[in-house]
Amino acid sequence: MKIICIGRNYHEHAKELNNPVPAKPVFFMKPDSALVIRNRPFFYPDFSNDIHHEIEIVIKINRLGRSIEQKFASRYFSEIGLGVDFTARDLQAECKKNGLPWEIAKGFDSSAPISKFLPISNFADIHNLNFHLDINGTRVQTGNTSEMIFSFEHIIAYVSQFVTLKTGDLIYTGTPAGVGSVKPGDRLTGYVEDVKLLDFPVK
Ligand code: ZN
Repeated sequence: MKIICIGRNYHEHAKELNNPVPAKPVFFMKPDSALVIRNRPFFYPDFSNDIHHEIEIVIKINRLGRSIEQKFASRYFSEIGLGVDFTARDLQAECKKNGLPWEIAKGFDSSAPISKFLPISNFADIHNLNFHLDINGTRVQTGNTSEMIFSFEHIIAYVSQFVTLKTGDLIYTGTPAGVGSVKPGDRLTGYVEDVKLLDFPVK
């Protein structure tokens, strides 16, 4: 399986990092070794001094597809989860400055904690879904999927022009504003509506 992540998909987040709002989706990938399942701890890596949290709604692809038309894209996922796109912001700044790829800043081992998945039928409207991240009980990021620049369906149509989507692939759909640093000792809890899906420590 592969992990596809969308960058700059919420206006306020693009602004907080001084990035332009994109005209097309921006995507990058993480390897499968990035996943952290079952709320296991995230171990702070020694190659960075500025690991940022990015809370994101994640969709799970449920069938094979390439060059999927946007009007059919909703057939390609039936479950959503919550994930964190951990980012070594110091390494990413260095990559950006030098025009280099982001893999060391985004794709490192354990950079993608993922919750269990829930059927989209559990929710009234996945295009109007509240989610948030708390650190040590304090709300740090709040988002609603209606604020996405590119919808789930648009993302699937766009990405599948370049990359065949396969059953089990995950798409992290971008983070709202409020990204910031984590440190050992923190506890991250993430919610979709009022369902707690993530609850893990940073060690
Ligand atoms: Zn992200």
